[in-house]
Amino acid sequence: MPIILDGNATSKTIRAEIKADVARLVAETGVKPVLAAILAGDNPASQTYVAMKERQCGRAGMGSITYPFPSTASQAEVEDCLAKLNADPSVHGILIQHPLPSGMDETAVLAQLDPQKDVDGISPLSMGMLLAGMDAFHACTPEGMMELMRRYDIPVQGKHAVVVGRSVILGKPMAVLLLAANATVTICHSRTPNLAEITRQADILCAAVGKAEMITGDMIKPGAVVLDAGYNRVAGRDTDVGDVEYATASAVASAITPVPGGVGPMTIATLMQNTLTAAKRAAGVAW
Ligand code: NDP
Repeated sequence: MPIILDGNATSKTIRAEIKADVARLVAETGVKPVLAAILAGDNPASQTYVAMKERQCGRAGMGSITYPFPSTASQAEVEDCLAKLNADPSVHGILIQHPLPSGMDETAVLAQLDPQKDVDGISPLSMGMLLAGMDAFHACTPEGMMELMRRYDIPVQGKHAVVVGRSVILGKPMAVLLLAANATVTICHSRTPNLAEITRQADILCAAVGKAEMITGDMIKPGAVVLDAGYNRVAGRDTDVGDVEYATASAVASAITPVPGGVGPMTIATLMQNTLTAAKRAAGVAW
C-alpha cells in the first residue's frame, strides 16, 4: 500500500498554524492579514473557490474582501480597482481570480499587480522573480504540492521529476520549484511523443493536465511518488477525478495524492500562508 499524501489533514494542520500566527500578529502589532479578491464574471467554479477562500480566511482570523465585477465590466475598471488595492496598506494580499471574462487581457492585468501583494504568485513579475531565484510568492498549487512533499519528508534532491503539463499557473512553476529543490526535471506537454516512456522514468511524477485518468499505472515506475493536481468532472461519477487513474497508480506508487483531498486543499492553505507572510512583512516582524 502506498503512503496516501493527505492534503485534507495536512492543510488542516497548516491552517491551524496560520490561525495561531494570525492571533499572535494581531496581538503583537495590531495588524490583521487581509486578502482581497477581484472576481470578474460569473464563472461558477470561480465563485465557489472565492467563497471557500473567504470562509477559510474567516476561520483563521484573517480579513477577506471580494470585489465583484459583472462580465460586462471593462478591463480599465478592473485595473482601477487593482491600482487602489495595490496602494491600500490595509490590504496585504490580492487575488485576481482566473479566468477573467473573455475580452480582458489577463496577463496585462496581472502585470500591474504589486509582487509584494501577489499572494497567488502568478503575475509575470512574480514568475520572473521565481525564475531569477529572487524572493517571490510562489504559485499556490505547485507550492502546495512542494509543501505536501516536505510535510511527508519526501526527498526531492537528486530525483528525476517529470511534470506533465506546462501551464503558467501549474506545470511551469512546478518544474521551476522542483529544479530549485535540486531535482532533475523533465517537462512534458501535448506535443511530447512517447509520453509513457518518459513518465516511467520519473521518481516524482506530477500530473497537471486536465484530462481525466490519463496517466495509468503502467505509465508509472514502481515506487514513484505521484502528485495529481487534476480536477476533472466526469459524467456519471459522484466525485471529481484526477489526471491519474488512482486504482492502477496506487498499486505501483510508493506515495500518492488522492483526488479529491490531495493537492486541492493545499492550494487555499498556501494562499493563506502567503497572505500571512505578506502581512508579517508589512508589519515588520521577524518571526
Ligand atoms: P491547462 O489546460 O492550462 O494546461 C494543461 C497542460 O496539459 C498543457 O500544458 C497541455 O499541453 C498539457 N496536456 C494536455 N493534453 C496532454 C496530453 N495528452 N499529454 C501531455 N500533456 C498534455 O490546465 P491547468 O494547468 O490549469 O490545470 C491542469 C489540471 O489541474 C486541471 O485538471 C485543473 O482542473 C487542475 N487544477 C487544480 C488546481 C488545484 O487547486 N488543485 C488549481 C489549478 C488547476 P500544451 O501546453 O501543449 O497544450
